[in-house]
Amino acid sequence: VSAARYWLEHALLPAGAADGVVVEVADGRFAAVAPGPPDGAERLSGLTVPGLANCHSHAFHRALRGRTQAGRGSFWTWRTQMYAVAERLDPDTYRDLARAVYAEMVAAGITAVGEFHYLHHQPGGTPYDEPNVMGLALMEAAREAGIRLTLLDTCYLAAGIGREPEGVQQRFSDGDAGAWQRRVDELDATPGTRVGAAVHSVRAVPPPAIRLVAEWADRSETPLHAHVSEQDAENEQCLAAYGRTPVEVLAEAGVLGQRSTAVHATHLSGRDVELLAGSYTCFCPTTERDLGDGIGPSRVLHTVGSPLTLGSDSHAVVDLFEEMRAVELDERLATRQRGHWSARELLEAATGTGQRSLGFGDAGRIEPGARADLVTLDLASPRTAGCGATAETAVFAAAAADVRAVMVDGVRREVEPEKVGADLARAVARLWEDR
Ligand SMILES: [Zn+2]
Repeated sequence: VSAARYWLEHALLPAGAADGVVVEVADGRFAAVAPGPPDGAERLSGLTVPGLANCHSHAFHRALRGRTQAGRGSFWTWRTQMYAVAERLDPDTYRDLARAVYAEMVAAGITAVGEFHYLHHQPGGTPYDEPNVMGLALMEAAREAGIRLTLLDTCYLAAGIGREPEGVQQRFSDGDAGAWQRRVDELDATPGTRVGAAVHSVRAVPPPAIRLVAEWADRSETPLHAHVSEQDAENEQCLAAYGRTPVEVLAEAGVLGQRSTAVHATHLSGRDVELLAGSYTCFCPTTERDLGDGIGPSRVLHTVGSPLTLGSDSHAVVDLFEEMRAVELDERLATRQRGHWSARELLEAATGTGQRSLGFGDAGRIEPGARADLVTLDLASPRTAGCGATAETAVFAAAAADVRAVMVDGVRREVEPEKVGADLARAVARLWEDR
């Protein structure tokens, strides 16, 4: 049993902003949260917010930052560059890189990550002796970095609608959904992790296989994620093949519902929006911006009852504060009006709602009984000085670089940007070195 007391100078609690809050932590959870004097408690100076959830991650894409931003192109030319990294990874370099990326996330105040994991097999598609060795590498990386992980084991079977996987895509494919299921059934969650499922996209998984993955997730009562309508080309190909939009195909295959998350949801019809009511949507604004995807209808989805979550996806940026404000700022550009999303709503998307969508419904709030996740922001940095201890400061002024203290499940994690940078540099260089 480990018990500890902390005094939060300023905190964003479910009821609103509060000053001078004592929290007691025992066995990884908040035992008490109440106003009071510091007494002997450890002081956390600044503004403390709940733990952030990064709901859409491909850890290895971090190796592309700074390397894919030159020249022209589209999502599809970027994908060619991404495949060059996927070709090089093995279980050891995958764990090494993911550990550094997850450490970057922890230092940015992210306490839980949803890893959309599709790099399963050896080059050429032969399974490793341990068929889940790549997924296990991610679990090990998360444990070492001190972040909670929902491993969204992803079914990927086709290069496009009706096309066999080719080249590096062979590493992604189990051959058929039955083989995907048999492999995932052997993958046991470790402490601090959950195993969930993902359908890569309607491009990569045919409808009968989508249905099987959805049924598996239902039986396993586990989160189910799918990329959907990130690109116009996906919609066009899907309409041509099935006479339905990607969201309609997912709906008919039983994917949508309260355990499900539609990732991107950028190019939607009115009917698509209605179908997504009751499912989560995960927006990844900095990646969607980097790839030139477009701006999804975040507020309309919220209004029909699709709770918003956020992800850093390709990790062009790992900063959930930037993702939060991007949702509102993108709406402003699209509509030429201000004030679609409040700071409290965006913070809820990045904390409680995001955590719930990853299967951690007991996280993302500073209240008794919840998992003890805390993120403390410096209120005297060049970005935050003079702004006040409010949700508006956290969402519209702060950056990941303002995170000074992080707690995950009651355990304090060191925030050491220089060490994080050195680990990232080493892990990325190792991947690109000639062999
Ligand atoms: Zn993605």
